[in-house]
Amino acid sequence: MKLCLIPGDGIGREVVPVAAAALQRLLPAVQLQQADAGWECFVRTGQALPDATLARARECGAVLFGAVSSPARKVEGYRSPIVALRRELNAYANLRPTCTLPIAGARQDVDMLIVRENTEDLYIGEEQRDGDTAIAIKRITAAASRRVARAACETLLARGMHRLVIVHKANIMPLTDGLFRDCCREVAQSYPQIEVSELLVDTAAYQLARAPQQFQALVAPNLYGDILSDLAAAHGGGLGLAASLNQGDAGVAIAEPVHGSAPDIAGQGVANPVAALLSVALLLRHTWQRPDEAQRLEHAVRDTLAAGIATPDVAGAAGVSTAAFAQALLARL
Ligand code: NAD
Ligand code: MN
Repeated sequence: MKLCLIPGDGIGREVVPVAAAALQRLLPAVQLQQADAGWECFVRTGQALPDATLARARECGAVLFGAVSSPARKVEGYRSPIVALRRELNAYANLRPTCTLPIAGARQDVDMLIVRENTEDLYIGEEQRDGDTAIAIKRITAAASRRVARAACETLLARGMHRLVIVHKANIMPLTDGLFRDCCREVAQSYPQIEVSELLVDTAAYQLARAPQQFQALVAPNLYGDILSDLAAAHGGGLGLAASLNQGDAGVAIAEPVHGSAPDIAGQGVANPVAALLSVALLLRHTWQRPDEAQRLEHAVRDTLAAGIATPDVAGAAGVSTAAFAQALLARL
C-alpha cells in the first residue's frame, strides 16, 4: 500500500503529518510519499497542481490531501488543486459522514452521510464576465448523476442504513436539477431495500439545521453537497472534526478533511488533526478494505477526546496543542 501525502497550505501542513504518523503506527508497511500542491506551490512554481504531483497520486492509488488556500479574487492561471485533483483522478463521489464524538457541543443523536457529486455542476469553473454581467455554467449530466447515486446507495447499505434523500432545486432549475433528481430516482429503483425521498435544497438546509437526527443519507449535486455538508459538520462538533473521502470506480481515492487552510490559526500549532485522522479511517475502511485498522483508529480518536484531550476549537481555553493531541493519540494506538 502506498499513500501520497499532499499537505498543501496552512494547517494542512500541521494535520497531515499527524494522520500520517497514526497510519504508520497502524500499518508500518504503508509507503508514504510527499507531493506538493496549493497556493504557495503556485506562487513558487507557477503550478497549483504540478504534473509530478498528479503522477505520484496516480502511482500511489491513494492520497491524503490537507488543505489549500485559494485567493478570494480571480488570479490568472490559478485553479483550486483539490477540484482539479478530484476530477483528474475521477474521484466522483465525496463521502461526508457526520457522526457523534464524545465532546461537549456535539449532538449525540446524529449519524448521517452526505454524498456529494464531485465532478460537475457550477464547479466546472466556466464563468464569463461581460461588463456588469457575469454568468456561470451549471453542467449536469445523466452519467455523473447516475454514478454518484449508485455510490450513495452502495455506501448507505454498507453503513447499515436504508433511507436516502435526494437534494435538488428542480422547481427553479427543472432541466439541470431535474435531470439529477430523475437519474437518482432511476438508480435507486434497483435498490428495493432503500426508501427514497426528495427535498428542495433550501428545505434540506432548514431541516438539517433544525432536526438533523431525522436523516440517514443525502445525495446532492456538487454545490449543494458542499454547503450542506459544512452545515452538517456543525452538529458533529465543528470543522476540525469533519472527515471526507473522495472515491471513484477504478480511480484514485482522496482522503480529505472538510476544512480549509485556516489562515487565522495556521502556524500556531493548535490545528485539530481529528478531521484528517478520521479521513484516513475512511480510506482504510472504504478504499483499502481494512475495517479493523479503521476501527482502531476511530476508537483511538474517541478515547483521546473522551479523556478530555482536544485542541482549542473543541476544548476552548482547556485545549491542548496539535503535538500534545498527537502524542496522546499515538499512545492509544
Ligand atoms: P477554514 O475551514 O479554513 O476555516 C474556517 C474556520 O474553522 C476558521 O476559524 C478555522 O480556524 C476553523 N478551523 C478549520 N479547520 C480547523 C481545524 N482543523 N482545527 C481548528 N480550527 C479549524 O475555511 P475558510 O476560513 O473559509 O477558508 C480558508 C482558506 O481555505 C481559503 O483560502 C479557502 O479557499 C480555503 N479552503 C480550502 C479547502 C480545501 O482545501 N479543501 C476547503 C475550504 C476552504
Ligand atoms: Mn467546502
